[in-house]
Amino acid sequence: MIKIKNVYKTYNLGMKNQFLALNNISLDIKDNDMLAIIGASGSGKSTLIHLIACIDYFEKGDIFIDDINIGKISEKQRSEIRNKKIGIVFQDFALIEDASVYDNIELPLLLSGKHYSSKTKRKLITEALQNVGIEELIDKPVSQLSGGQKQRVAIARAIVNEPSVILADEPTGALDSKTSSEIINLFSMLHNQGKTIVLITHDMYVANCCERIVEIKDG
Ligand code: ADP
Ligand code: MG
Repeated sequence: MIKIKNVYKTYNLGMKNQFLALNNISLDIKDNDMLAIIGASGSGKSTLIHLIACIDYFEKGDIFIDDINIGKISEKQRSEIRNKKIGIVFQDFALIEDASVYDNIELPLLLSGKHYSSKTKRKLITEALQNVGIEELIDKPVSQLSGGQKQRVAIARAIVNEPSVILADEPTGALDSKTSSEIINLFSMLHNQGKTIVLITHDMYVANCCERIVEIKDG
């Protein structure tokens, strides 16, 4: 499903000052894989996730998602892949705090380019929330939720467009251990529903819940 071949990523830090963040990375991620990526802070984990998610660019190598070479397509096609095939979850939830749960999860539906009726949107958002077990919070402001509830909202937002891949960057990094294991159970459930899960973590308990662990060192 995702094929990463000899990828290099350099950050330009100003004149002649370059930092090689990914140094010839290759990795195959199969359909319905549940993969943990571990590695020290600064080793390049987030960078790799950003490249797969079409959030950032790389200068050398190839990344294929379902046989589409994402380094060789237009920005419009990249945003389509980001919106339709991939759901992303971050450590800090990346929600709009002042908005309601509904409004946050509606965003990917609005960006999808499809024209949903209000009724259909409410149905899709309710289903996504049922999947993460918090449908009763649909009209609450995000600012009133606990950390675990916020991460559930972020996961609902990641799945509402029914992507085949979920990328999660330290999704339990801001949560206590009990809430972490609840969130990991959700990822396992999504995996059992057929999704491909790629999960960055520092926590070996979380990594061991995955089917496969890869470690990245110094890019
Ligand atoms: P990890 O997620 O494993 O902690 P990152 O992928 O965030 O690591 O970062 C890898 C390396 O690239 C680090 O040394 C970091 O300082 C550097 N880096 C990350 N993002 C940028 C950026 N936007 N500009 C310059 N350097 C960056
Ligand atoms: Mg990181």
